[in-house]
Amino acid sequence: MALVPFDDRDGWIWLDGAFVPWRDAQLHVLSHGLHYASGVFEGERAYSGHIFKLRAHTERLIESGRILGFEIPWTAEEIDAACRETLARNGLTDAYVRPLAWRGAEQLSVSAQQTKIHLAIATWAWPNLFGADRMKGVRLAWAKWKRPHPETAPTASKAAGLYMIGTLSKHHAEAEGFDDALMLDWKGDISEATGANVFLVIDGELHTPTPVNFLDGITRRTVMALARTRQIKVVERTIPQADLARASEVFLVGTAAEVTPVRQVADLHFTPAAITETLLKDYEALVRMPPEGVAVRAA
Ligand code: PMP
Repeated sequence: MALVPFDDRDGWIWLDGAFVPWRDAQLHVLSHGLHYASGVFEGERAYSGHIFKLRAHTERLIESGRILGFEIPWTAEEIDAACRETLARNGLTDAYVRPLAWRGAEQLSVSAQQTKIHLAIATWAWPNLFGADRMKGVRLAWAKWKRPHPETAPTASKAAGLYMIGTLSKHHAEAEGFDDALMLDWKGDISEATGANVFLVIDGELHTPTPVNFLDGITRRTVMALARTRQIKVVERTIPQADLARASEVFLVGTAAEVTPVRQVADLHFTPAAITETLLKDYEALVRMPPEGVAVRAA
């Protein structure tokens, strides 16, 4: 399928409080965000017209900016409303939503105290990449790069700069014929994939790394709650790389990835089975449930 460039599409982008035609949503090349990665973003999904866990994403966006030392000049209520309006304005109901905040061009040096903070929101159709074939699972390589110590980088922020090691790791994995990379942390323990968190099924229990050096994903927390509802024991712990060999099932979770089974990590093979399938289906059902407070009209 031909790639439609992201700067040459029809539609509307919310930019600093107003809708601008998609192709006009431009910024100056001397923007601080571009040179020094002083940007934070979110990835959200709308299902049947509702953005799943919108407020949690908005709060994380605001907090990501604070971790990088800036305050987004919009309230959570305003950002929520802008995300919803962007979806509606583009006539989409099932789509990915991407808010992005960054430092402007007022100052171009390591110090950026005088920069203005910008906010943009775009949305586009982005169906799950694996569709009906999802239970077959994806293939992961071990990443070349390690997740840094939380005192080395602001790892709790969804900061654009942190995706540098993600892109390098993903490109390396793709060059070797894999779908994605599984990253270790600086100690050599299992961390996450380049854009999704990871779960292992060991002896019927669900094991996932403690989020000390990576994003405590909203999908991750949702899937943990779904597992507990199913009486599946959830264990958050440091997971040494060698423990992967003990896993009977492995899967990734994230807003874009949803629940994605894994069938291979380097030379280890897995067969996605009952626990993965149950949680995948439970997640699919949950995201399509009307949010609280929205009346469901009787037929
Ligand atoms: N880790 C990384 C590096 C990510 O980019 C994402 C996607 N935002 C996640 C984990 C999963 O987070 P969430 O479930 O909140 O989308």
